[in-house]
Amino acid sequence: MMPFKECPVCGGELEKKQVKKLLQGGGNTVSMKVSAEVCLRCGERLYTEEAVQTFELIRNKLREQEFSCFKAVGTSFTVGSNWPDKSVQPTA
Ligand SMILES: [Zn+2]
Repeated sequence: MMPFKECPVCGGELEKKQVKKLLQGGGNTVSMKVSAEVCLRCGERLYTEEAVQTFELIRNKLREQEFSCFKAVGTSFTVGSNWPDKSVQPTA
């Protein structure tokens, strides 16, 4: 299942955790909890092949504006284009 016994980035120890994952596409965001192997040293996350395929499927649905399998939770915003601090810019 998991191809790695240790972190491929730093060689650190991996631990199975539920992590929050955000996926974006077409200006929309979907959040979900997913189980991943997380490196205890550098924080690298390793997902199963199945999860990676699911992420791709979700990104495709977002791009195609196909929302029937998602549930709305709140509204996301970006800052207004007249935001006074110009070091902060709207994302869309
Ligand atoms: Zn690591």
